Amino acid sequence: MENGVSDEVGYDVRAVRQDFPILGIQVHGKPLVYLDNAATSQKPQVVIDSLVHYYTRYNANVHRGIYTLSEQATAAYENARARVARFINAPSPECIIFTRNTTEAINLVRYAWGADNVRAGDEILISEMEHHSNLVPWQLLAQEQGAELRFLRVNNEGRLMLDGLDVLITEKTRLIAVTHVSNVLGTINPVKGIIKKAHKYGALVLLDAAQSVPHMPVDVQELDCDFLAFSGHKMMGPTGVGVLYAKPHLLEAMRPFMGGGSMIRKVMLAESTWADVPQKFEAGTPNIADVIALGAAVDYLSDLGMANVREHEIQITQYALDQMREVSGIKLFGPWELQTRAGVVSFVLDGVHPHDIAQILDSEAVAVRAGHHCCQPLMRRFNVPATARASFYAYTTEEEIDALLEGIHKAQRVFGHAIERSV
Ligand code: PLP
Repeated sequence: MENGVSDEVGYDVRAVRQDFPILGIQVHGKPLVYLDNAATSQKPQVVIDSLVHYYTRYNANVHRGIYTLSEQATAAYENARARVARFINAPSPECIIFTRNTTEAINLVRYAWGADNVRAGDEILISEMEHHSNLVPWQLLAQEQGAELRFLRVNNEGRLMLDGLDVLITEKTRLIAVTHVSNVLGTINPVKGIIKKAHKYGALVLLDAAQSVPHMPVDVQELDCDFLAFSGHKMMGPTGVGVLYAKPHLLEAMRPFMGGGSMIRKVMLAESTWADVPQKFEAGTPNIADVIALGAAVDYLSDLGMANVREHEIQITQYALDQMREVSGIKLFGPWELQTRAGVVSFVLDGVHPHDIAQILDSEAVAVRAGHHCCQPLMRRFNVPATARASFYAYTTEEEIDALLEGIHKAQRVFGHAIERSV
């Protein structure tokens, strides 16, 4: 790939980058190389414009006002719901609940479904590679209800050990909560098979799709998942808006999550009845501007084409892995096979703490994340306190991977010297 222009027919990464004002800035006098997309993504101008347009032209509360601005805002808000539904092929917009983020979407299921459907002695199956937001809520629910947590383990390659699935799922399993894509290893889990097996036992499946929906085509009807959670900010949308998809009959049966305005039908002094789905789950004034801007992000991604985004990330990840595996003293985590791996590369370097790697890379304007990535059990599984992690997106170029490699070599030079001096 020359001059930052992608090889893929019809996908021009240079043109894509033009849409993201922040990608033109400098940090420490050098062009920004943003490789922390698993934490949050950058935003195209259309998303920023959508926020500004809402606040400057039709800011009003939704669902209540009998005046033009409120009707405009309501239409835009509900239109975003319809576009998000189409994006993941949900059967109807009513299956889409807007939350703050993936974490809140998962907690919504914990409270609104879990309290009535998980009892003492029941089992919840999760995996060792879960982000804390798909782990801690189930710990809390299991503790409260007297249920048992069971765990799918991870092999050395960074894949779920699914051989054990037949033993782990039992008649008592109520829920399997598993990540679609690991935010540390990049592993794309074979969730369709897991869902099929779960359903045989009458268990439901919640997919943590925080790292899949932004990066690849996801079709909830094809997967047949029961719940699916993701965050707008990781898919070019603003912070503060997330999504819970759930099958309609589940939403109908679930109790409300939070009580307050907008989620009621009739309120008496001692009791109330609930609005229809999805309003039943959206108490209070929603995050109107960010929901509308998420709609703009979904349009932008749809225009790029999710298959193209995925293909671009496969190529970039291949390019990164090919070079990184040649670095002496590096340890890379996650599977090698690119069809089942997303654009996330975690690594450690002999003799250099991941935080020092991130700091040296920052001095070169390369933004990566270092730490446990909210996956402490997974860090323990691989016997490391932390890793450095580079994560890619639709706008990542091979030149940026080259800058990452230069930064890694610089970290080795700096800390290699430090080690030599101290002996
Ligand atoms: N699940 C996974 C796999 C993630 O990578 C993240 C964020 O990094 C989350 C859940 C939580 O997302 P949020 O902080 O937007 O709720």
